[in-house]
Amino acid sequence: TRYVYRFGGGVNDGGKGDKNLLGGKGANLDGMAAIGLPVPPGFTITTEMCTRYYEDGGQYPESLNGEVANGIAHIESVTGKKFGDAADPLLVSVRSGARISMPGMMDTVLNLGLNDETVLGLAAASGDERFAWDSYRRFIQMYSDVVLELDHGAFEEALEIAKEDNGYTLDTELTADDWKALVAEYKALVQKLWNKPFPQDVHDQLWGAINAVFGSWQADRAKVYRRLNSIPGDWGTAVNVQAMVFGNMGDTSATGVAFTRDPATGENVYYGEFLINAQGEDVVAGIRTPQYLTLAARERAGAKPLSMEEAMPETYAELARVFDILEKHYRDMQDIEFTVQQGKLWMLQTRSGKRTAKAALKIAVDMANEGLITQEEAVARVDPAALDQLLHPTLDPTAPRDVLTKGLPASPGAASGLIVFDADTAERRNELGDAVILVRVETSPEDIHGMHAAKGILTARGGMTSHAAVVARGMGRPCVSGAGSLSIDNANKILRIGNRELKEGDILTIDGATGEVMAGEVPTVQPELAGDFGVLMEWADKVRRLKVRANAETPQDCKVAREFGAEGVGLCRTEHMFFDAARITAVREMILADSEKGRRAALDKLLPEQRDDFAQIFMVMAGLPVTIRLLDPPLHEFLPHGEAEFEEVARGAGVSVDTLKRRAAELHEFNPMLGHRGCRLGVTYPEIYEMQARAIFEAALIVKARGGEAPIPEVMIPLVATRKELELMKAIVDKAAQEVFAEQGASVEYLVGTMIELPRAALKAGEIAEVGEFFSFGTNDLTQTTIGISRDDAGRFLTQYVDKGIFARDPFVSIDVEGVGELIQLAAERGRKTRPDIKLGICGEHGGDPASIAFCEATGLDYVSASPYRVPIARLAAAQAAL
Ligand code: ADP
Ligand code: MG
Ligand code: MG
Repeated sequence: TRYVYRFGGGVNDGGKGDKNLLGGKGANLDGMAAIGLPVPPGFTITTEMCTRYYEDGGQYPESLNGEVANGIAHIESVTGKKFGDAADPLLVSVRSGARISMPGMMDTVLNLGLNDETVLGLAAASGDERFAWDSYRRFIQMYSDVVLELDHGAFEEALEIAKEDNGYTLDTELTADDWKALVAEYKALVQKLWNKPFPQDVHDQLWGAINAVFGSWQADRAKVYRRLNSIPGDWGTAVNVQAMVFGNMGDTSATGVAFTRDPATGENVYYGEFLINAQGEDVVAGIRTPQYLTLAARERAGAKPLSMEEAMPETYAELARVFDILEKHYRDMQDIEFTVQQGKLWMLQTRSGKRTAKAALKIAVDMANEGLITQEEAVARVDPAALDQLLHPTLDPTAPRDVLTKGLPASPGAASGLIVFDADTAERRNELGDAVILVRVETSPEDIHGMHAAKGILTARGGMTSHAAVVARGMGRPCVSGAGSLSIDNANKILRIGNRELKEGDILTIDGATGEVMAGEVPTVQPELAGDFGVLMEWADKVRRLKVRANAETPQDCKVAREFGAEGVGLCRTEHMFFDAARITAVREMILADSEKGRRAALDKLLPEQRDDFAQIFMVMAGLPVTIRLLDPPLHEFLPHGEAEFEEVARGAGVSVDTLKRRAAELHEFNPMLGHRGCRLGVTYPEIYEMQARAIFEAALIVKARGGEAPIPEVMIPLVATRKELELMKAIVDKAAQEVFAEQGASVEYLVGTMIELPRAALKAGEIAEVGEFFSFGTNDLTQTTIGISRDDAGRFLTQYVDKGIFARDPFVSIDVEGVGELIQLAAERGRKTRPDIKLGICGEHGGDPASIAFCEATGLDYVSASPYRVPIARLAAAQAAL
């Protein structure tokens, strides 16, 4: 097997650039070289090597040595410099690169190949002593940090002291001699902390760095990231070794990062930052405040330092040309890293840029309109889950705000929460159910779990492309970065802004769209759903086969659902209507009655209320199907709590409190979720379902009589296990329908069907379909009853099940395709065999989960039903599943 692929200088071994083999960075370096863009020559050690390295217990095959030597020889021949040469040394960077960009992997080592001897050669060959020693100290510092894993604080402190002693404030003020002295100190530090001298042999340096990249694949933070993002552990990372180009060779040199379109808004404008006389890491780490790329951006921000467009017009024009080439080539918005060495542009990386949901939408729609991609590709490009960001509220523009300061609008959306200062606390408070805002000087990959747990992120340092900004945008968390007036006292857990002081636990609001930071909580408003969102949804609807309905039981929810494009109600839970303060007493009377007569008296009070509920829903859903589930939960859920409530019910029912209490005790169940609930209530108290069915049909006729479009009620019987149960229940419903239709001299179409939420029902679906006209898979209960895991208690152990790989994902979030999925498939098949036109849908939480929706598409269900806010997500996911 070949493990090393070369690129640059007219060579590209990678051919089409296989990301799985070369990693994302390596594949695109190869790709850029292949289309003739200026890429410093280098080579990639494949991800397969990484996997094999771990399989073989941290060993390389013998052939690797020779392959790496060939790779170095390639770089030497293109650059005309020799690795380790005392006169004119070749320096390289060693860069990790997994298939997808992954925080937690080893940071890049720059300027590798410098030692006490080659530094002199670099000084002589470049004619710039200061540059040579600056590069050497950078190298020792980085290598010690990321490869030797020594305490980097000690190195930073030494630099600070050197600056203080000389009365400097900026790194750029240090002279060649200052750097030289610092190098000596750094080497002494390495000796002290590592008990060995800093490695002088350039090959030792190289292999040290290669080992560190492969080693970082199994670092804890990389594992955490993989777990959060479901990235398999056997993908491995590649290693890229590449000739250095220098952005720190004076004022005609620079380094920068850029996006071909605005990653926050999606606007088709170049977007980025650069720093003159600096090396790559300086921009990302936020050590100096970077300058804008374009004149327009600088002017908009009212910033003084010249933009690249002004400071280096020719190189900027060249860069803009490259942006266009890259967008056309990769047919997507690109995130680019570049360096300018004495006026010459070099490309160091390109990849599809992370973007906000808003930008993803706009870019997809724009690119389709520009003809760069098709409408279907546009549909495929937007992550349905990310739409969540757009469907949620933003700050009410009219609400008063106590603005403390303003930072950079790094990731949009608004969030309020308790202030916490570290990732672990963020995680802990989140688990306790608190909304938190993570406040940090800057973030690093170690903070990922805390960023994930936080509702929003606020940093004091770092630009729009800082770690915090990039990661927050990827996660869809609102983020304000670089809020320079923050002063964070981590030791005492105090945040100071101007003369204001906030403690851990105080409430803070951030607006990632404006960069504002506010004290206290600020009210929010609903999102706007026209524009790009509407266009993309239209395109999605063109390719979608699955219908999308909503789970809704109030007219308000039904309205929201329709605005979001729901094509019906897939689940209207009638019990939710029973909890209403005005009727709960009548509900309790009904439950606690000890005779049919008593129950009927109470039900008579409830009938007009239920009828009114359904009429309102039918009005909103004009002509669309509405699936109404008859009463499902165990009755004890409605029992009175406390003396006052018992007394109230006793008054209404005309019985004594004692009688009621005795009756309540009788209703006690040991395992209510498997107890007296669902159609079992209808079997024992048929009058309940009778009343509900009557309310449904009377309501339907009222709406029809008002000239509204005739609703199509689908009456759904819950928790059916046998055909006989459904038969009995259907008889009740049909009888109610006939009575109402006869009374009113009018009728509506309706269906009677059942939920499939017990394994027995799935198995006997063939028989059940003889009676039921539709099936709705109640996947919450079906998951709980199939796996035998209580969904109310699973939280305590399910995360461990996921961590240990027993389940790939929480089966209550994403359908357990292998187990529960098989039951669904089987039930669908058997149901269809009996009744070929049987309507099949799903109404569990899974109806809004993209992976589960893909399963529903594959199974050929007719519709999915999701909570109103997830309807657009379901529409897009259903379209993608159909592509
Ligand atoms: P990351 O994946 O964290 O972005 P990179 O490998 O891209 O890490 O390296 C970070 C930065 O280091 C790059 O953006 C670039 O500025 C700098 N860099 C990497 N390789 C080179 C090189 N060969 N010459 C000059 N700078 C480099
Ligand atoms: Mg990079
Ligand atoms: Mg259920």
